[in-house]
Amino acid sequence: ATPTALLVGTGRGAQLGILIKGPEVLESTRRVDTVVLDKTGTVTTGRMTLREVYAVAGTDEKEVLRLAGAVEHASEHPVARAIALGAEWGRAGRLPGVEEFENVPGRGVRGRVEGREVAVGRLFEDLPEELARAKAEAESDGRTAVVVGWDGVARGVVAVADAVKETSAQAVRELRALGLTPVLLTGDNRAVAQAVAREVGIEQVIAEVLPEDKVAAVRRLQAEGRTVAMVGDGVNDAAALATADLGLAMGTGTDAAIEAGDVTLVRGDLRVAADAIRLSRRTLATIK
Ligand code: ADP
Ligand code: MG
Repeated sequence: ATPTALLVGTGRGAQLGILIKGPEVLESTRRVDTVVLDKTGTVTTGRMTLREVYAVAGTDEKEVLRLAGAVEHASEHPVARAIALGAEWGRAGRLPGVEEFENVPGRGVRGRVEGREVAVGRLFEDLPEELARAKAEAESDGRTAVVVGWDGVARGVVAVADAVKETSAQAVRELRALGLTPVLLTGDNRAVAQAVAREVGIEQVIAEVLPEDKVAAVRRLQAEGRTVAMVGDGVNDAAALATADLGLAMGTGTDAAIEAGDVTLVRGDLRVAADAIRLSRRTLATIK
């Protein structure tokens, strides 16, 4: 009877927009007690928009936006898209081309624009007081703020904003009702992460982690004796999805995440993560 019940479970799953890689996946849903949620693109829409541009004294804000936009134009990151679009549609004028483009995962981008070595992201160690203040202010408003500089000097801050998905708070409540403790995991700034966590009802936040450290965060929870489900969408989530006891990938996310996950949530609705766990547990119960 086992294979039939499993097929019924996974067939119903497909109707709900849940694709399960194999019947053995169901078993792990019984034990999970912790659910790690990626922030950008999973709990939030990941559709960021440009909000503010700040420049140090003596530097033009338009120049900060124009050079940042030129480099970010070559990246697919949600932060990058917001900056490149904002620069194109804003008053920054036509964007110049970029040479020697380099993507630094979880940190930012670099490239040469009009002979200047431009960097955007978390790539500067020491910030002048006025930039640190502008950045902290944007972050306390829940915005993701990145530093823009060229020729080794930080010269501006660009802030972008994302929105929490309408269904995320309800999803967190449903996951809790299944006995899971939610944890928010992100490479983004702590203040931004905490603002999102508060909005959806999550207490435990792990922020400012580099992509390679997302795996370490999952392992640490496992070492504490927790059985971990992870939900993510990005290239930077793929290794953590594979490491988790149960990996759930947003179908709206990257191919890397979908390949690494055990389950795909086709519509990218976080509530379906709770549906998936509920359905799997129920399917297992009918087999017993
Ligand atoms: P998340 O874990 O929320 O999906 P990422 O690991 O992709 O976030 O990125 C973490 C942080 O690194 C971003 O909040 C941003 O500060 C910085 N960053 C990453 N990519 C870029 C980029 N292309 N331009 C500027 N900053 C970036
Ligand atoms: Mg993400």
